[in-house]
Amino acid sequence: MAPREIGACDMVFFDATGTRRWYVALGAMFALMGLFVYAGSAAWALSTARTEPLITYDSQSENRDYAKTIALTFDDGPDPVYTPALLDLLAETGVPATFFLIGEHVIDNPDVARSVVERGFEIGNHSFTHSESLASSESRLRAELIATDRVIQDATGVRARLFRPPFLEDVNVGEFDGGKLGGDEARWAENAGFIVVGANLDTQDWNVRAGHADVILSRIEERLDPSRPTVIIMHEHAGKGATIEALKTFIPLMQSRGYTFVPVSEFFGLSRTEVMPVAEAPTAVDMLIIASAKLVVNGSSAFNAVIFILSLLGLARISTLLVSRRVLVPYVRRGWFPSLAQTIISIPTHYGILRTAWPGARYAPVTVLVPAYNEAANIEATILSVMSGSAIPDQVIAIDDGSTDATPLILERLAKEYGERLMVLHRENSGSKAGALNQALPYVKHDVVIAIDGDTIIGTDAIRYLAAHFDKPDIGAVAGKVYPASMDSIYAQFQYLEYMQGQNIDKQVFALGNGIGVVPGAIGAWRLSALQAAGGYSRDTVVEDQDLTLALLTLGYRVEFEPNAVAYTETPNSARAFFRQRSRWVYGTLQCAWKYRSWLFSREKPAVGWIVLPNTFIFNIIMPALIPIVDGLLLLGILGILPLTSAIAPFLVYTALDLWYAIEGIANERHASLKLISIVIWQRFFYRYIIAAAVYRAVVRAAFGNLVGWGSHVRRGDCHQALGEALRTPETPTGLIPSPIRVAVPEVTVA
Ligand SMILES: [Zn+2]
Repeated sequence: MAPREIGACDMVFFDATGTRRWYVALGAMFALMGLFVYAGSAAWALSTARTEPLITYDSQSENRDYAKTIALTFDDGPDPVYTPALLDLLAETGVPATFFLIGEHVIDNPDVARSVVERGFEIGNHSFTHSESLASSESRLRAELIATDRVIQDATGVRARLFRPPFLEDVNVGEFDGGKLGGDEARWAENAGFIVVGANLDTQDWNVRAGHADVILSRIEERLDPSRPTVIIMHEHAGKGATIEALKTFIPLMQSRGYTFVPVSEFFGLSRTEVMPVAEAPTAVDMLIIASAKLVVNGSSAFNAVIFILSLLGLARISTLLVSRRVLVPYVRRGWFPSLAQTIISIPTHYGILRTAWPGARYAPVTVLVPAYNEAANIEATILSVMSGSAIPDQVIAIDDGSTDATPLILERLAKEYGERLMVLHRENSGSKAGALNQALPYVKHDVVIAIDGDTIIGTDAIRYLAAHFDKPDIGAVAGKVYPASMDSIYAQFQYLEYMQGQNIDKQVFALGNGIGVVPGAIGAWRLSALQAAGGYSRDTVVEDQDLTLALLTLGYRVEFEPNAVAYTETPNSARAFFRQRSRWVYGTLQCAWKYRSWLFSREKPAVGWIVLPNTFIFNIIMPALIPIVDGLLLLGILGILPLTSAIAPFLVYTALDLWYAIEGIANERHASLKLISIVIWQRFFYRYIIAAAVYRAVVRAAFGNLVGWGSHVRRGDCHQALGEALRTPETPTGLIPSPIRVAVPEVTVA
């Protein structure tokens, strides 16, 4: 049986009675079953749907002279703009034409499809998706033909027996007459009862640019053979109306030369009612097909819209961040910002928010809190770094949360060494860092509290820099800057890169609008009275640091960032450990989003409602979860299952921005190596996937409950190592990290 407080840790989502998880499981099961049944019955409907036997037809009926006869055909419609315009032109000039409609477009524009039929024009089937892999199998082609047939029937009340294969030049339909079938695609279509309509004059107007009607005209002139019947392929939307422009000249010109225009069925010796029979009432199977087709089209357009909006948001966010970081932040920080601009963006009273403390600044006395659970590998280094800085606190409280390793022994030894300055509290394991920190609060002597994780060492001046911020009463908390304590593993390098982006760009820009959403547990300073006003560290969520930061923001406190207050913390160095850490963070973020949901879009606290919460939710949860889906679409594009062009552009833009973001993050770091840029691509394809998996896991956990309190992993002693190195070689950075640790303390035992 787990200790009671673990349950408390999960209270935001977790229903301790366990009934909720049954509801969630049942709901998920029914949803899955429903989806399965629906997809299965749609597939069954498509495979059993009836098709008409092929009507016999007499191609190019010999009893007529087809010299100077043209059938105009328009593919890829219906188009909401150009199809009606073309219908008007054709009606004015009294010219018949045949429209080959795409099923998806019929679903999007059913009224346009209906008016084509109502105004007396001929329609045909041009497949459902217009995909290049349409002819990959007979069943695929058949399914597309039937789906299109039924949605045409639904929209227009007639059935379209003519079929124009997409990408006609690849299909080997030789001639328009359909009688000389070559490719599988045409044969399969005939098996399904469709009359394949080719063409012998392809204008290729799809590659004509707007305003170039003359190009289309000259192509027709070149290829037109007056001695033969002619089927011309055009697209009403081509060249943004260039095709329609060309027809305005072409139709009267041909009429003056004595040409006749006919619907394409004429060349097959078929009547309108034969190629467009009036549809009987749809059967249940037909209705299932129509409903599924609509669901697929509308669902995917909704999905595309979501992806599109999120992409725009992502682009806007990243470019705003990068530009603000370059242009705004330096001026605001130096207080050089022109007063007019200050007034406009209303930061006159706030321009202090970006100040960083300076070495000679006055600073308040502080109490340092170090919560620890099984931190034997690093705890001594943590305490040493606190006790050997340029401002040695007169009160350090270490809280041992029932560690089962040597942590309590090490702390007791250190307490003897440091005397009154180091107080050690022991408690039974509570499973929660928040509980450990709260236990120390009654002993705190000063109004500024600096919390440092037990696997973290801090820079020499970190305490002074943090403490110097608390000169105004509305400052509630100050975030320090976190680095990995060791750069030995690729995971540490990924995290380094991510921390640099977050701390050198995001935090500095968000500080402009009091929008810093997390003061890290590894190093952060808090005003005791603010902490008490928030009710201490909360156990509602597993991320007590983020929870408390949000609490202070909603109470109206300001949160600042101090880049000179650095800390080095042990970071996970395996995929598994990293995944676990992130699952926990994301889960905590979900809990925070839920806990503070009433502040979303709040007018009272716009920083929380418009910056912190939306930013956290969209960019820390939704976007990372979408990465594999967006990549999957790209992969489907590369494999030829989806159109590649629409998937590749966003991918390239994103990767470019990612790269820029990483370069800026590193460029704003004084000592960092640009070599790290080379891992950006790995960050994109490997690291991001672990994060996505962590998001999925956290979401599942949010639904089903239960994550443990401390989330500890096996500590390696990176901090001990780093501190030891810094002491031996004071000027040399540890790994790639610039080390500000330049201390002279007695011997350090490196574990
Ligand atoms: Zn087409």
